Amino acid sequence: MLELPDHRLRQREYLLQISRAITAQLDLTGVLNLVIDVAVEMLAGTSGLIALYDEDGSGELRVYASTGLPPEIWPAFTPLLDLPLRQVPREMLIHVLRTIATDTGLALRQMIALPLTFHDTSVGVIYVFRAALNVAFSADDEQMLQAFATQAAIAVSNARLYQGVLREKQRLHAIIEQSADGVMILDSRWRITSFNQAMEQLTGWPRSEAIGRPCAEVLGIHNAQGVNICLTDCPLQRHPHEHNPVVEGWITNRDGRELYIQSRYAPQRGPRGAFLGAIANVRDITEQNHEKELQNTFISVISHELKTPVSIIKGYAGTLRRKDAHWSAETLDDGLRVIEEEADRLADQIQDLLDVSRFLAGGLHLELTDWSLPMLAREVVQGFAAQCDERFEFELRFADDFPPVHADYERIRMVLSNLISNAIKYSPDGGAIRIGGRAEEHTAIMYVADQGIGIPPEEHQRIFQRFYRIDNRLRRETQGTGLGLYLTKSIVEAHGGRIWVESQVGRGSRFLFTLPLAHRQITASMHNPDTHGAE
Ligand code: ADP
Repeated sequence: MLELPDHRLRQREYLLQISRAITAQLDLTGVLNLVIDVAVEMLAGTSGLIALYDEDGSGELRVYASTGLPPEIWPAFTPLLDLPLRQVPREMLIHVLRTIATDTGLALRQMIALPLTFHDTSVGVIYVFRAALNVAFSADDEQMLQAFATQAAIAVSNARLYQGVLREKQRLHAIIEQSADGVMILDSRWRITSFNQAMEQLTGWPRSEAIGRPCAEVLGIHNAQGVNICLTDCPLQRHPHEHNPVVEGWITNRDGRELYIQSRYAPQRGPRGAFLGAIANVRDITEQNHEKELQNTFISVISHELKTPVSIIKGYAGTLRRKDAHWSAETLDDGLRVIEEEADRLADQIQDLLDVSRFLAGGLHLELTDWSLPMLAREVVQGFAAQCDERFEFELRFADDFPPVHADYERIRMVLSNLISNAIKYSPDGGAIRIGGRAEEHTAIMYVADQGIGIPPEEHQRIFQRFYRIDNRLRRETQGTGLGLYLTKSIVEAHGGRIWVESQVGRGSRFLFTLPLAHRQITASMHNPDTHGAE
């Protein structure tokens, strides 16, 4: 067996020790200190240092580790580090070294320096110094140092690679965390390994509990029938070759709220197609889904509601036109009256729809003037009273000096007509319909009260929503689009007012809304606190 000289054996041992350190710890300074300690020892030097190029690409060398040179005197070596190793003559390097020696009082007489190169990229320089003047570094020394330089270069690139990965990981983590959408990462067994803040808000699950659990349990997307589609219909399993499978459905978050969500998956697969996991992007689309449902309702309501008067008109017109029948003047008049009424109703409904779409497109344009609410109420009530039978009794309750309001006359006529028409529609047994108001400091409060079927408390808010109709017997018997109160509310709110209902089932309902008083009236009424209407 070949006997290695003692120093070769030691070099081997050291190199082994260094490579163990490189693989065991990713603390770069620790490894570099070890390299320079060992290199100085092996080369019988007195001191040494390792300098690295800054990662910002400026090309500047900075000392990272040293032996026999305390950090306070590292700045003294800057003139040496500034010299490009391969481009300046050795004499110049030695000259600069002597100057540093003089300045610092250190014994720096001989020097050997080698670049740290990894994959043809220079990452730094290793320097070893000797104090003795007459012992120059040999070619053997250079060869030995080369081995250490290579190790140091590997350590530097490993550490930088690791730091780069770490930075990238932190960046990704920040992006995921800041994302407005819910993001979660699943492993190959569909267990959650990462769960961002938006996901916590969406589901109500804290990440500490969600992580480690199957996504089908935490998210539990279900269809309208309550079936957990994560278990029965997981898109990642159903469409294994799809790029970005998507699923939509309901989730019940921990507060018990039902949300409609869309979950989009980015599956990750191994080289042979094995499922490694997926990133899920979860978005709350409850609003959009609601809009979509409204669109569907809209179409079905429109087709149903508009078709009814059209078929009545068509039926009457067809009957009256029959050549084989002779109608009495009275029957003819009755038929034409129905046609006229239905045509009016159709026109009203079309107007409602136009108003709604105009309102949704960009708000209502109001023509604001000062006028008298009691006068408008009287006018509208007269119109209704003429059409109603004796089961209904109308009462107007306003103080004589009711102050003028500042509002759009035609729009408020519509509000009042809607409320009175509902009061009639939802009072199948008739009764008193009271319309009145009172003035407060800046506002008029007006009401329309009936003695009809009433509205259960849980419906008091919902009835003002678009297309909403309470599901009761009358819903099937009375015609309506569920747009009236929505429009009414939109008009009142466009005036800066408020509308609400007070009601008891079986006893009747009272709809109240506010409108701004005319400006000059406000100042006057402040001096006259008696300006109140009767109830
Ligand atoms: P529509 O009358 O066309 O159904 P509205 O938007 O005017 O639509 O009213 C929404 C729902 O509110 C009605 O379907 C009805 O159930 C309820 N509602 C409105 N006004 C009254 C009232 N005065 N009494 C009882 N229920 C009412």
